[in-house]
Amino acid sequence: MPARTRIIIVGGGCFGISTAYAFAKRGTYDVILFDRQNIPAPDAASTDITKVVRFDYGSETHHMVLGLEALPLWRELNKVSQREFGQLCFHETGVLFFGRNGQFNPFEIDTMKAIRDFGYGDCIEVMENGEAILKRYPQFRTAVSNGYDIAYYNKLGGWCDSSMGVRTMHYLCKKAGVQFITGDPDGTLSELIFSDSSNSKVIGIKTRNGKVHYADKVILATGAWTPSVVDTDDLLVATGQTVIHVMPTPDQAEVFKGDKFPVWAGDWTKSGFYGFPSIALDGRIKIARHSSGYLNPVEANKLPIGQYQAQIARSVQSQISVPRTKVTNPNDTIPAEALAHAQNFMREFMPQLNEMPLVEMRVCWYCDSVNGNFLISEHPRHQDLYVASGDSGHGMKFLPVVGEPIADVVEGKDPVRAGVSLKALWAWNRDTSVGGNGGMEGRKEDFTGDGKAPELKQMEVSSSSQKHKGDVLRAGWTEERPVLGQGLGKMVPHEVLIEGRAKAKL
Ligand SMILES: Cc1cc2nc3c(=O)[nH]c(=O)nc-3n(C[C@H](O)[C@H](O)[C@H](O)COP(=O)(O)OP(=O)(O)OC[C@H]3O[C@@H](n4cnc5c(N)ncnc54)[C@H](O)[C@@H]3O)c2cc1C
Repeated sequence: MPARTRIIIVGGGCFGISTAYAFAKRGTYDVILFDRQNIPAPDAASTDITKVVRFDYGSETHHMVLGLEALPLWRELNKVSQREFGQLCFHETGVLFFGRNGQFNPFEIDTMKAIRDFGYGDCIEVMENGEAILKRYPQFRTAVSNGYDIAYYNKLGGWCDSSMGVRTMHYLCKKAGVQFITGDPDGTLSELIFSDSSNSKVIGIKTRNGKVHYADKVILATGAWTPSVVDTDDLLVATGQTVIHVMPTPDQAEVFKGDKFPVWAGDWTKSGFYGFPSIALDGRIKIARHSSGYLNPVEANKLPIGQYQAQIARSVQSQISVPRTKVTNPNDTIPAEALAHAQNFMREFMPQLNEMPLVEMRVCWYCDSVNGNFLISEHPRHQDLYVASGDSGHGMKFLPVVGEPIADVVEGKDPVRAGVSLKALWAWNRDTSVGGNGGMEGRKEDFTGDGKAPELKQMEVSSSSQKHKGDVLRAGWTEERPVLGQGLGKMVPHEVLIEGRAKAKL
């Protein structure tokens, strides 16, 4: 009988749980997954009410193919989540991508071409003018009158209840034999264990309860916490992204339900804004922005999770951006500037949403990589230590599928999609001169200037928070993005949220 390989995965979000399932299914691994919180962890990026599921990826056909692979698996996950938890995790409402002033951006043009070339053209319906959009979706009347007058609808895709997705994968992992150690201190990684003082080989982890757990391989799937766990050579940075929820009345919610309202992206590559149908649970509607985000710099030698940080402090910049979440700061909201920006956008796009009580404001943390591609690689200086992170804000849609190519990379194989080597794409030694994309062209513009349509610029309270340089993710990045809670990152008072919730009778 072949010897079994013992794998430790740290982090039970999208990347960790999907990888755990992939290894468990391969039959020759003992898999132990650690998380500092019970899964789904309340402040993980993967824990959310809605995330976009799309395979629309501009000219990135490898992502398109991975997204297409995920779709039937999402439908399979639905069967499990429905049976075990009485809820769906994938809602196939389709996604509506808006251009402006009669023009699509290169992202939409490239996407439609790639989808058609791949033989999926019949999934796309182009709405050439405002009339065509309104005929199907009258909810966008203001948007159309303000120049969002061309769009295409992709009927394949929609949104996932990402918390339910993770919960369902957690269930499948347990059934497949994955062992879970969760909650603080038992599940919290505090230290990596090396075979010798040169730290060249990792042989396990120590958790915050002082216990040592040995393994043949350790995979860090610690999301936006990764740059504070291990030295990533400035390839990764945690960036805070802003999300709001508004609460319609039951009558309004009816108009925004998924059977008559899609996921939308409002001239995304310029504005970054996107939104969702009203959810069944209580009717709320989420609106978010894919942007260059905020930082929460912490002195490297004061990082919360243990001794390895001493090495980080010696080897990289003295400050590292660490997720600041409602778990430790329950009264946090979002920067006032970000809220004003969202409200300005909605005034132009869908003013109905501005009238609804604001019932949630959340900063959710991306682990941005320097060029928007995931970082799935063995650590160049620590044998048997792997990083599976760098989601760059576009990983969730791949939940049912991403674990397989990650496991392949860890096994030394090269997963290929659309002729692209994912091993090379996700490698440590990437071309850092390329500005960020994050799965969407718009972030590139954000990084190279302020990247917005002139109209949006005028609406801004201040545009300075958008001025991020292309090399913002490397040395010096701490001065480039606003710091959460300070200056441009100063947050909306929590009372505003209390008031909104009271209005919505929550
Ligand atoms: C606002 C927002 C909107 C997004 N929208 C979309 C979208 O529409 N579509 C899409 O595809 N993607 C979207 N994403 C991206 C998606 O959420 C991420 O790609 C994905 O969730 C990343 O998963 P992860 O496993 O890397 O990280 P996470 O989900 O954050 O998981 C990391 C886990 O590691 C654990 N951990 C951290 N440190 C330790 C430690 N020391 N010890 C033990 N455990 C630890 C944490 O508790 C956590 O459970 C969005 C992200 C955000 C923030």
